[in-house]
Amino acid sequence: MIYKLSLIEVAEKIKKRELSSVEVTKVCLERIEKSDLNAFNHIARENALVSAKNADKMLKKGEFAPLLGVPVAVKDNICTEDMPTTCSSKMMQKYLPPYSATVYKKLKKAGAIIIGKTNMDEFAMGTSNTTSYTGRVLNPIDKSRVPGGSSGGSAAAVGGQLVYAALGTDTGGSIRQPSAFCGVVGFKPTYGVVSRYGIFALGSSFDQAGPITRTVEDNALMLNCISGYDDMDSTSQNIKYPDYLSALKGDVKGLKIGVPKEYYNVDIDEGGRDTANKAIELFKKAGAETVEVSLPDLEASLSVYYILACAEASSNLAMFDGIKYGFRAQNYEDLLDLYVATRTEGFGDEVKRRILFGNYVLSADNYQSYYIKALKARTVIKENYKKAFEKCDIIIGPTSPCTAYKFDSKLSFRCSFMSDIYTSSVNIAGLPAISVPFGKDKEGLPYGLQIIAPPLCEQRIYNAAKFVQDGEA
Ligand code: GLN
Repeated sequence: MIYKLSLIEVAEKIKKRELSSVEVTKVCLERIEKSDLNAFNHIARENALVSAKNADKMLKKGEFAPLLGVPVAVKDNICTEDMPTTCSSKMMQKYLPPYSATVYKKLKKAGAIIIGKTNMDEFAMGTSNTTSYTGRVLNPIDKSRVPGGSSGGSAAAVGGQLVYAALGTDTGGSIRQPSAFCGVVGFKPTYGVVSRYGIFALGSSFDQAGPITRTVEDNALMLNCISGYDDMDSTSQNIKYPDYLSALKGDVKGLKIGVPKEYYNVDIDEGGRDTANKAIELFKKAGAETVEVSLPDLEASLSVYYILACAEASSNLAMFDGIKYGFRAQNYEDLLDLYVATRTEGFGDEVKRRILFGNYVLSADNYQSYYIKALKARTVIKENYKKAFEKCDIIIGPTSPCTAYKFDSKLSFRCSFMSDIYTSSVNIAGLPAISVPFGKDKEGLPYGLQIIAPPLCEQRIYNAAKFVQDGEA
């Protein structure tokens, strides 16, 4: 089955010309068009087929690129000049950007066939992909359940075997949590490893784009293609970028694994903790050591994250006023009313809540007691990680306190905010982290194991994740 192959397998077959890119692209297009997961906001049928034909021509001439001819998708907050970019918001319904994001250009340069734009929570705010203007996304493992969010469309598209890989973005967990819920591998790189140029920001000081794939190897290959210094992004890391794929030895002997004691105080589904413990046992058997570490402000990190991310979001979304971009209300009396009507009609409820909250914490009366305090706490949270990493090489634990829950279930409220408990502090500190599938709950739903490392240690994460993946198999 062509669609069941991994990205590396299909790329290899295309390279050897055992499969043509057109053939593979058609299979993906048909699967996407027949799918009821609602994972896509836009399907680029014609462009994808033209690119696939070109890829086949290049292959015939003996040319090579790492993703040549392979269909992949990108989240709908990544600017693409040949496709609408909507952030799943009414505010941007027909927005066609005048330029493309660096990650998009890089994927194309690597030869990928971009098959479409994936559905997401509106402006990347959420954990269940239910806030999208184009409707909710279904979990490919059980359609009565949420796929996670905000990159739910990307995770569902990869898990549902509609594409070989997809890009997501992660401000507080939006790549890792949906990857855990859909049983796929999701990676959030160190802040600055992947250019943010041309990606709609939720929280500019937290956001990173990263790959969602079916295997760890595929993920490392994708990161090879999208990482790198970009002078269009002032926060881009100007370093020598390694070959992430070459790090995948799966040898973990002597590795020091940190287990934060605070992880055990979180109200978590017991099965999740048991599976994380099983993974730790597996590491120990292979010669790794475990050490107890402490992340004392784990609970506080949720408040810090929501204060800072909402403050940044309220500022980033101020540009939508009905004049310059996207949607404009039809009925208004004067300029002020145009702003109000446009923003009232254009934004969904969750976005409005966050704009209100963000403006509240930034207002003159509250700035010192919320915003400045949260910035100080951010420094403390970073320090906590630094101290923990003096004792260990990686930190391991569950990605999320629960598995994919049913739409409208009682769990959804608790889970939607608690969902970020393990993931958001990683963005606060700008660290790299992966979610790799490991184990299943009683109902057969996958758990994700999160592996965190110090800044720029993505190779260490990939290597440990490969060990987990192979141990799981
Ligand atoms: N769930 C978090 C939120 O709703 C994270 C979102 C994200 O990473 N984009 O803000």
